[in-house]
Amino acid sequence: MATFQQFAQTCQALSQTQSRLQMAEVAGGFLAQLDLDQAEAAARFMIGRALPVGDEARLNLSGRAVWRVAAELTGAADRGEDIFAEAVDFGDAVEIVMRLRDTEPAPTLSIAEVAARMREIAAAQGRHARRRKLDLLRGLFIRATALEAKYLAKILIREMRHGMSEGVMLDAIAYATGAPIADVRRINMMQGDPGRVLRVLRGDAAAPQSGGLAMRPLKPMLAQPADTVADAFAMLGPELALEHKLDGARVQIHGAAGHIRIFSRRLNEITPSLPEIAELMAARIPNRSFIFDGEVVAVDRQGNPLAFQELMRRFRRIREVERLREQSPVRLFLFDVLGLDDELLIDREYRDRFAILQQTAHAAGLELAGRCLPANLNEGEQFYAAARAAGYEGVMAKRLDSRYSPGVRGRGWLKIKGARTLDLVIVAADWGYGRRHGWLSNYHLAARSGAADQFAEVGKTFKGLTDDQFREMTERLLALKTAQRGGTVYVRPAVVVEVAYSDIQRSPQYECGMALRFARIVRLREDKIPADADSIESIGREFERQILRTPPQPG
Ligand code: ATP
Repeated sequence: MATFQQFAQTCQALSQTQSRLQMAEVAGGFLAQLDLDQAEAAARFMIGRALPVGDEARLNLSGRAVWRVAAELTGAADRGEDIFAEAVDFGDAVEIVMRLRDTEPAPTLSIAEVAARMREIAAAQGRHARRRKLDLLRGLFIRATALEAKYLAKILIREMRHGMSEGVMLDAIAYATGAPIADVRRINMMQGDPGRVLRVLRGDAAAPQSGGLAMRPLKPMLAQPADTVADAFAMLGPELALEHKLDGARVQIHGAAGHIRIFSRRLNEITPSLPEIAELMAARIPNRSFIFDGEVVAVDRQGNPLAFQELMRRFRRIREVERLREQSPVRLFLFDVLGLDDELLIDREYRDRFAILQQTAHAAGLELAGRCLPANLNEGEQFYAAARAAGYEGVMAKRLDSRYSPGVRGRGWLKIKGARTLDLVIVAADWGYGRRHGWLSNYHLAARSGAADQFAEVGKTFKGLTDDQFREMTERLLALKTAQRGGTVYVRPAVVVEVAYSDIQRSPQYECGMALRFARIVRLREDKIPADADSIESIGREFERQILRTPPQPG
């Protein structure tokens, strides 16, 4: 049985190489010598996932809780400031604090045991769940060496920082199993979880490659932006449908014989946050198996849509769901069907999937997103104008012959939004003064830049949040703090915000040479992780487009 210490040493080795090929070989070589159960867990752990996709949200342990458990074991709970100032990242800080113990235990934890404890932590729900989770975590840390504790902490906060992206992990799996990389990628599209991919490739009969609807989330298909309906026609051709772009949260709803599981855009299970949707689906389609794609929107008592923020409260405050269910009800709009009656439909054309969706939803009395099949550009533009006037974020344009490509931001779907916004990551914040004294209130916004966990600043803003949100954000950012210089607190990139701006300027102030003017936070994107943020390249393209759009100055 492989020890968790060996796993941690392998991760150390991974952090010392930049070469993708070498990483795949080191990781793949390690996975190849493990039995199937341990290899499945280790493949997940290596990319910072404690549990199979879909189950992670049930862990519900913040970075602060992990830190406190480790620090209390060594009596150094009040030394966080100094230790974080010295440490390069969160895992490093945990390793430093664990080295303060008088004696270090011998490495006896196995990968299988760590995986079992992670499952137990996730399974602790209901009354006393918090205490039980912390007890289990403490039990793990007591037995861990400092190096093991470092990687336990990194896995729990999902920040491995050794450059092992999901893509490199797929290369490692190809190396470990000898399967062609194209097969590995295809199976990953279906399984959405490298641990399960490994299981399929090593011939575990319990993990079907296709067929059957296994109640496991598929990655959602994504859209590319387009500026206008005319651009959408130019890009997709005239064989397209337009749908309202609803401003809520993406949901993938799986059902089998009345048992319902709901997954978020990030593939976390969110069934407990949306009990009325689970009840609705179980009641309306009790005897069939299905996978639907759709959007839930918070509404007022009259059924009118409310701001996206209202909906997000549901996902953050699980304990208050019953009260929120009364106060801010939700409405479900379906727009795709990925499977029905044990048949996966993702390889069928969208026009066929939609026909099936329409028939099923109609029979069950479920709502669909508003839609039109424009006969020409003029009709399309009218639909767009009416959608904007009715308060929708914009429209989606979908090619009628497109397949459902899980996880792909392809050309099958385009999104046309009224206002262009960017999803950016907060990498630092300045302490406020005057009315905002005591709050971290001026946020440094960054876009993805090159490698997986690199970010480059493109602007700052203190606009867009309410006082309550400032308070909450200050707490969140302090828990992510990595350093402080002057009045600026630097944080681990974790919080994604959607930002509106007037235009992009050339700017020597930032390394990327561009800055956003009049940036303002439109909302927090709890449903996104930093890897989903916009990139410097896409801002660069937008900058060029802006130059093209700007009429020449007179004179
Ligand atoms: P955004 O930041 O614009 O919400 P995103 O990155 O979450 O986008 P995209 O694929 O770029 O995802 O845009 C499509 C998103 O729009 C979907 O994830 C979904 O949440 C939402 N949406 C609303 N209405 C529809 C619809 N009719 N069809 C598809 N997606 C829709």
